[in-house]
Amino acid sequence: MSHILHRMLSKTYPTAAGGEGMVLRDRDGREHIDASGGAAVSCLGHGHPDVLAAMHAQIDKLAYAHTSFFTTDAAEELADHLIARAPAGMESVYFCSSGSEAIEACLKLARHYFVEKGETRRVNFISRRQSYHGITLGALSVGGRMKDRAPFEQMLMQGHHISPCYEYRGRRADETSEEYALRVADELEAKILELGPETVCAFVAETVVGATLGAVPAAPGYFKRIREICDRHGVLLILDEVMSGMGRTGTLHACEQEGIAPDLMAIAKGLGGGYAPIGAMLASKRVVEAVRQGSGVFPHSQTYVGHPLACATALAVQQVIERDDLLANVRRQGARLEQRLRERFGNHHHVGDIRGRGHFWGVEIVADRSTKMPFDPALKLNARIKQAAQERGLLIYPMGGTADGTAGDHVLLAPPFIIDAATVDTIVERLGDALDASLASAR
Ligand code: PLP
Repeated sequence: MSHILHRMLSKTYPTAAGGEGMVLRDRDGREHIDASGGAAVSCLGHGHPDVLAAMHAQIDKLAYAHTSFFTTDAAEELADHLIARAPAGMESVYFCSSGSEAIEACLKLARHYFVEKGETRRVNFISRRQSYHGITLGALSVGGRMKDRAPFEQMLMQGHHISPCYEYRGRRADETSEEYALRVADELEAKILELGPETVCAFVAETVVGATLGAVPAAPGYFKRIREICDRHGVLLILDEVMSGMGRTGTLHACEQEGIAPDLMAIAKGLGGGYAPIGAMLASKRVVEAVRQGSGVFPHSQTYVGHPLACATALAVQQVIERDDLLANVRRQGARLEQRLRERFGNHHHVGDIRGRGHFWGVEIVADRSTKMPFDPALKLNARIKQAAQERGLLIYPMGGTADGTAGDHVLLAPPFIIDAATVDTIVERLGDALDASLASAR
């Protein structure tokens, strides 16, 4: 019996024993193509020699120094690297160990910014339904996946949720994409006015929705309108790029494709590529300056802030991505992945939508294409697809649909940036087989 408290207490998991490039190997020697990079983490694949060398070099030098005594070259160099490539206006980085912690830091710095400015009534955060921002209590409070929140609801900060920008299910037949984008973005303004602008701290959103809906980019113009609304009411914009950032969508930051910059941004996953647990908050000059002019203190820190091994590892990951021009490969192979998905599933009876960007694609599965009716969640179709894929040597990231018809089961693909054309084709072939076998078993 395992003494690890796994999420599913009754399930037994195969043991991952090794990995090279696109492939993970289990203890029985079976190979699995890592088509989701775990949970959109492994952007360089497994066992990259240059990253391993950088890790060895850092560990030989220094494993740990507490930030109340020292800074380190590793943390300073990574911060410089990130800020030099950050969205406009970013000035500072706070390092942590996960995406949830990066979101917590964003929530606290947003609040602290207003305390520094004397606008102490600003306590409300607005976010979107069907979003995921992490599992800690602050992150859950802004999160919009109700089943994660349910057991803890009474312990959460009061959350204020508006609609997601989810064109497949939200856009009316009489609207263009642009009209839809503005309609749902304007829900933010209505919510700010309802709460009172002087009470609103920040709006939090994933630039491309990941785990809950499966790679849903916003409709054109959505984030430009969101930025305008935030600016009009002095509300900060926090973008969660934990999953969609660091090259996943074909540009380093997903918000580059929206033509806007946030005030605070959370990154993680692809930052360390799975070689080290690391996340970060990027903070804009406007926010940091208010703290500098005020108390001079951001009252938030953790033992492993700026861990030198994690920082040196992340810097090596980012340098390899840049040196090998891997974002060009993300765009090239991402286009092939889209094309193959559309060829294989475009006319599939049970595929309602295929959406995404770069190396971030979602396939939504429905019982009925014309009504978009999801399958009964009791069938656990997403779990069947995951299992059928794994039996075929393919790792994908699935998520269940909802009984109220607000989302179907879906599959998320987020392959490492090093993928080649043949592996793209194999992924789609195996996914097709796994989907058809799961649908047959669910009948
Ligand atoms: N934000 C988003 C968009 C995520 O997808 C995740 C994790 O999947 C998180 C935050 C939380 O990150 P972590 O699991 O590293 O705490």
